[in-house]
Amino acid sequence: SRRALIAGNWKMFKTGTEAVTTATRLVELASEVVNTDIMIAPTFLSLPLVSQAVAGSNVKVGAQNLFYENEGAYTGEVSAAMVKAAGADYAIIGHSERRQYFGETDETVCKKIAATLKAGLIPVLCIGETGAQRDGEKTFSVLDKQVSNGLKSFDSDALQPLVIAYEPVWAIGTGKTATPEQVAQVHEYIRKLVNDKFGNTLAMSIRILYGGSVKPGNVSEIMKINDVDGALVGGASLDADTFIKIIRYK
Ligand code: 13P
Repeated sequence: SRRALIAGNWKMFKTGTEAVTTATRLVELASEVVNTDIMIAPTFLSLPLVSQAVAGSNVKVGAQNLFYENEGAYTGEVSAAMVKAAGADYAIIGHSERRQYFGETDETVCKKIAATLKAGLIPVLCIGETGAQRDGEKTFSVLDKQVSNGLKSFDSDALQPLVIAYEPVWAIGTGKTATPEQVAQVHEYIRKLVNDKFGNTLAMSIRILYGGSVKPGNVSEIMKINDVDGALVGGASLDADTFIKIIRYK
C-alpha cells in the first residue's frame, strides 16, 4: 500500500532565519512520526539552510519550482542539479500559481518533470481546475490535458517516483475545500488516467495528494477518502505546531 506524504509549500514566505527556526521546530515535533513521509518546500534561498537544519531527520526538503536546463545563460533561474546539490529530495512542478502568474504551461511542466527526474529528485506535479472551469464542467478535460501533456513521452518506469497533487485552484488559500465527493471523484479519475496511459503498476503505486485549504480540522476527513495518499498544504504548513497536527492526522 502507498505511504502517505504530507508536504508543506511555504510559497514566498519566510527569510532564511525564519525558515530554519520553523524547520528545526518541525524536526523536534516530527521525530516520532512513522509511516508518513514529510516534506517542506521553502524558497530557493533557504534550501541549503533548511536542508542542513533537517539533516538526518525524517523531514525532507523540496523546491517549489526549477528550470529545465542544466546550466547556462538563464538569468534568475535555478537548475534541478542545483536544487539537488542544495540538499533537496523533491521539487514541486506546475503549481497553479506558477501557471497563473509566471507563464508555466504543460509544455514547460513536461520539460521540468524530465529535468527533475534526471537529477534524481521526486517531482510533485500539480494539476487542478479553476472555478470557472469547474462551473463550465471542464474539470475532467482540464485534468486530462494537464496529465497527458505534462507527462508526454515518458515511459512508466521513468515515472515511478512521480507524485501528483490535485489542487483545485478555487480551493487554494480560499478556505474552501472540495467536498469529499468531489475529491473522491477526481482522485479516482486521475488514477484511472495514469492507468490508461502508463499501466496498472504505476497507477497502483503513484501517490495522489490533495491540496487546497487543508487544515488540522479537515485533514482526517480528507485522508479517509479513497485514492487520497497525502496532502499538499500551503498556509497551514507555515507554523510547525499547526503543521504537525496535519502530519499526525490519524
Ligand atoms: P493553501 O493550503 O494555503 O490553500 O494552499 C494550497 C497550496 O497551494 C499548496 O501548494
